[in-house]
Amino acid sequence: MSDCIFCGVAARDLPATILRDDGEVLAIRDINPQAPTHVLVMPHEHIVSVAELTPAQDGLWGRMLHVAQSIAEDEGIDETGFRLVVNTGHNGGQTVDHLHVHLLGGRRMTWPPG
Ligand code: 5GP
Ligand code: ZN
Repeated sequence: MSDCIFCGVAARDLPATILRDDGEVLAIRDINPQAPTHVLVMPHEHIVSVAELTPAQDGLWGRMLHVAQSIAEDEGIDETGFRLVVNTGHNGGQTVDHLHVHLLGGRRMTWPPG
């Protein structure tokens, strides 16, 4: 997707602070962090959202969660806790239409979400 920001980041055409990249799953720091730790975990593959996931992508989804878990450990927020958020579609508040999991931590989260 030539006009997709995260495809551009994955291809190194756009700058980002990259924490992990195994060629399948990429993790970058969010450009507008909402918590002391705010990382985005995403596939290289252009999948629009959770609404588009297929059973064939179960392994990819699992690997994305394990990358998030591993980064939570690296960031020192695995024991204090963290939040994974996957905004999906218009009402879900998704603004970039390339699947990504937000890893948020380093402060106490509130509920309900806005
Ligand atoms: P969404 O609203 O789709 O759930 O999340 C999109 C996230 O991407 C937002 O938190 C926003 O700050 C982040 N973002 C948007 N553009 C860029 C960018 O160019 N670089 C990085 N690192 N993050 C971005
Ligand atoms: Zn994309």
